[in-house]
Amino acid sequence: MLIVPERDIADLITRKAAFDAVEKVFAAMAAGDAYNFPVVREAIGHEDALYGFKGGFDRTSLTLGLKAGGYWPNNLERRDLINHQSTVFLFDADTGKAKAMVGGNYLTALRTAAASSVSIKHLARPDAKVIGMIGAGHQAAFQLRAALEQREFEKVVGWNYHPDMLPNIEKVATDAGVAFEAVQLEGMREADVIISITSAFAPSLMSDHVAAGTHVACMGTDTKGKQEVEAALLARATVFTDEVAQSISIGEAQHAVAQGLLSEADINQVGAVINGTHPGRTSAAEVTLFDGTGVGLQDLAVAAAVVDLAVEKGIAIEVDF
Ligand code: NAD
Repeated sequence: MLIVPERDIADLITRKAAFDAVEKVFAAMAAGDAYNFPVVREAIGHEDALYGFKGGFDRTSLTLGLKAGGYWPNNLERRDLINHQSTVFLFDADTGKAKAMVGGNYLTALRTAAASSVSIKHLARPDAKVIGMIGAGHQAAFQLRAALEQREFEKVVGWNYHPDMLPNIEKVATDAGVAFEAVQLEGMREADVIISITSAFAPSLMSDHVAAGTHVACMGTDTKGKQEVEAALLARATVFTDEVAQSISIGEAQHAVAQGLLSEADINQVGAVINGTHPGRTSAAEVTLFDGTGVGLQDLAVAAAVVDLAVEKGIAIEVDF
């Protein structure tokens, strides 16, 4: 069995490699060649931790496995460890033998950023110039850095519930040579693409804040009850997602569906656009919305890419198992 420790991963995988892995697995999901297993998520009654598994199988690449981990809210304060902790396990699809164990923390940030970038590549207007960010936490910096590679963006407009965190995303824009402006939510009307990545349980971005022709990637809502954008925005938009079952149960679409504004049949897999079986955006005035809920296959795809790179560079640790 091969081990790729967390400490080696940032130097091994590029944003481009993560993007390619996620784009490919979204395509395989839409073609029916890859599927996610039901998610397990438990409050374990110890350290206030939430722990669970996200797994799946991609028949095209024979990638089989799971990501195990969750959220330990006391880690940072008590142990100087990050609160999100996860590990990916890959198995040989021919034999069931354990194949690799890979640190999952940095990979989670990269694969989530890759998902919104894939949606921008396939759904945003080609002439998009201004990108709006709702959120300025850990994940927001990854989302913005990756998104800036998808169009010739000239400006970032940012809003966050906690304005003191905005320098986190301002730095990303500045480092990439793109202008940054902190705005009120009304200022999002200037954006051609908007990414929301917060842990909110009530909407910040209202339909009125979004101009015609915008592509919106909602990335923060991954649990029942969370919500970042007004349900009416989903009714107005053409809605895409990574996986429909998650979109309606734990994703941003849960609210629009519950309110009868959107039906399951209205939600399209972004992979269908990648495969050319859905036209994607059909006019410059259309609002497109990607509900990125986060699926196990994304984790497995980037972990498999990391294992290949670690083997290539001779740094995978081999153990008898
Ligand atoms: P973080 O704690 O670093 O940042 C949280 C962000 O949410 C900050 O911008 C904060 O200001 C904002 N926020 C907090 N309370 C708010 C409120 N009441 N209203 C509006 N905004 C509020 O967290 P992170 O690591 O950046 O993750 C952000 C979200 O993304 C979380 O909800 C996480 O579960 C989710 N996430 C989703 C995926 C996915 O695949 N879809 C992957 C990773 C993380």
